Amino acid sequence: MDKKKILLIHTGGTISMSEDVETGAVLTNEENPLTRQTKELNELAHLIVEEPFQLPSPHITQKEMLILRNLIHSYKDKVSGVVITHGTDTLEETAYFLDLTVKGSLPIVVTGAMRSSNEIGSDGLYNLISSIRVAICDEADGKGVLVVLNDEIHTAENVTKTHT
Ligand code: ASP
Repeated sequence: MDKKKILLIHTGGTISMSEDVETGAVLTNEENPLTRQTKELNELAHLIVEEPFQLPSPHITQKEMLILRNLIHSYKDKVSGVVITHGTDTLEETAYFLDLTVKGSLPIVVTGAMRSSNEIGSDGLYNLISSIRVAICDEADGKGVLVVLNDEIHTAENVTKTHT
């Protein structure tokens, strides 16, 4: 079977950061650590990667949300689904905004991570793989924007972050 085309949009947040081994600070890298894994991820789907900005999610405003919405619309007829990596602090706001503003039945999955890419138990790559699996699944069609984290699938309409 032909691999589906998925638009993968990186926006920043812990999922695309690394912990500084000396200070313990979680920082943005020059190179997004997730883009290094593109070869492995491409085995699941044919990925088209976009990185319109790299921001901690509390810095994401309506302006960036609109950039995401327009980016999704520009790819709408070219891909079978969309996966967005995002900081978890305001992930639910972006997911809900897209749920309200993106037209059509394209599966859109938003994901993040609680631990950065080089921390023990890092969950970013795992959540990203799970999200791509959901985005390529026929049953995800027409479900609205979904949030996938920690082996769970949530609807953007109902999800909220309750624990840091
Ligand atoms: N401060 C990060 C953010 O929301 C937290 C995270 O990604 O979990 O960008």
